[in-house]
Amino acid sequence: MAWFTRQKAARPTGAIEEASRVRTEGLWMKCDSCRQIVWRKALADNLHICPKCEYHFKIDATARLRMLFDDCQWQEFDRSLASTDPLEFVDQRSYKERLGAMKKATSLEDAVISATGLLKGRKVHICSLELKFIGGSMGAVLGEKVTRAIERCVEQRIPLIIVSASGGARMQEGAISLMQMAKISSALSRLDEARLPYVSVLTDPTTGGVTASFAMLGDINIAEPGALIGFAGPRVIEQTIRQKLPEGFQRSEFLLKHGFLDAIVKRPELKDYIGDALSFFCGPVT
Ligand SMILES: [Zn+2]
Repeated sequence: MAWFTRQKAARPTGAIEEASRVRTEGLWMKCDSCRQIVWRKALADNLHICPKCEYHFKIDATARLRMLFDDCQWQEFDRSLASTDPLEFVDQRSYKERLGAMKKATSLEDAVISATGLLKGRKVHICSLELKFIGGSMGAVLGEKVTRAIERCVEQRIPLIIVSASGGARMQEGAISLMQMAKISSALSRLDEARLPYVSVLTDPTTGGVTASFAMLGDINIAEPGALIGFAGPRVIEQTIRQKLPEGFQRSEFLLKHGFLDAIVKRPELKDYIGDALSFFCGPVT
């Protein structure tokens, strides 16, 4: 009986501890930059920018669209395009399995959302890359979706905005993923011939084949503060050139200083900045 009573007494206490742990877990987090404790809610209310040091946390593709489109409204295109795994690639696990897991985790078929809507009252097309989907990597689907988006821009005579967040080409699609660099770049040259503006927004991180193709081909290339932007990683470069790289190498600020970027724009000012840039290129909204 005594055992029973003790158990009974112990149980609710345990349950309360459990409940309080569940309730408080994840409410706070440590900032990756200043290491201070930040309230998650305060972070979310501040466009995922650290209220203490202005570090820009990574945000997903949908949050990005919500931030840029007027009234958070847009029409999505080519949502159902999915990779066919042309090489039947297997590394630690099969590419098919990896794709399946990613679809489940992100509710997306591939690493980009392609959509049209209004930005400051002007119709635009935005392609927003999803870093969580195999590192925002560029395979045949991303290449096709972005190319179709560009073709739509030419057809409808509307500006293009691509928000990059990517580790580069998708290894699991081998040379096919590399071909997307040329495919998108040549589509962009048709956009240029049609004299329509393309605003490239580089966010943390934009690397590899994405930097080496469309992310650096904007009529204006802008980045968020502190974003990692480059082609190869710093370790590979150091090993190749056998030199120590300078402080802050491959961060937005360094790139701006060395002429690779046109501007660094803080997240809360991004929409206004793009709106103004488009007014400069296309004239005021009619
Ligand atoms: Zn911070």
